[in-house]
Amino acid sequence: MTASAASRVEIVRDVASLRARLAERRRAGETISLVPTMGALHAGHISLVVEAKKHARRVVMSIFVNPAQFAPSEDFCSYPRSFETDAALFAAAEGDLIFAPSVEAMYGEGFATTINLAGPAAVGLEDRFRPTHFAGVAIIVAKLLNQCRPDVAIFGEKDFQQLKVVTRMARDLDFETRILGAPTVREADGLALSSRNIFLSAKERARAPSLYAALRRCANDINAGVAIETALDTAHATLAAAGFVTDYFEARHAETLGPIASRGEGPIRLLAAARLGKTRLIDNIAL
Ligand code: AMP
Repeated sequence: MTASAASRVEIVRDVASLRARLAERRRAGETISLVPTMGALHAGHISLVVEAKKHARRVVMSIFVNPAQFAPSEDFCSYPRSFETDAALFAAAEGDLIFAPSVEAMYGEGFATTINLAGPAAVGLEDRFRPTHFAGVAIIVAKLLNQCRPDVAIFGEKDFQQLKVVTRMARDLDFETRILGAPTVREADGLALSSRNIFLSAKERARAPSLYAALRRCANDINAGVAIETALDTAHATLAAAGFVTDYFEARHAETLGPIASRGEGPIRLLAAARLGKTRLIDNIAL
């Protein structure tokens, strides 16, 4: 990337400046896409920027490691942070503006509001293992949508339940922003790219593709007529043999995320979370 590419990206750190800058863009008749991230960018994030550019003239990326979506036992402090590299990658992808607020800018003194999520999209998967996670995601996404007022916001299917929770929330709270999903970017061996993959040891990294392999096999089995329960049992056994501790490996209705008992009941999405040592991987696949 050239220095001029980097200098084309604006970096804004407070809400008032963000609003002022985006109001100018809108007055000039420009549409805006938002790509919310926690930084430590990889090719998956950049694919969202590429997708965002298809839907709007200007692409805003938020980079904010959101404390509200980490439980006290989780990796908020050690979560990877690499702002300079992120800014360079975003510039190379021809993004326009990075919004990188401080925790204080997002959660002012006395902050006291929560969003209470319910319904099949929010309940029964991640929330069983990370009970406060989606409330933290919902509040930060709601704030970002209010602050940026984008025409479109892009979320990765990598976090499929998050995409569904955010879609539901935006609909229920009448946000005008269109919420769009984008496909998961993977390593050549199938492992979904994730900022947390750097925490895998060499041995764990070699085993990690087994999660996607188990999802693919399970999808193939169900498509071939194997009963869902049987296919899920096989997946659990395969992951245990590969050294994973599985939090969940489930079949859900692909639209609502409600339970689904057979292939005939609607489109199916398989969703899984499993731990290798201290690293927790999540992934999913459409049937
Ligand atoms: P994060 O920075 O992990 O919060 O992710 C920011 C956005 O990037 C979310 O919408 C994620 O779903 C998306 N994302 C993360 N990993 C990938 C991937 N491998 N492929 C596509 N999108 C991804």
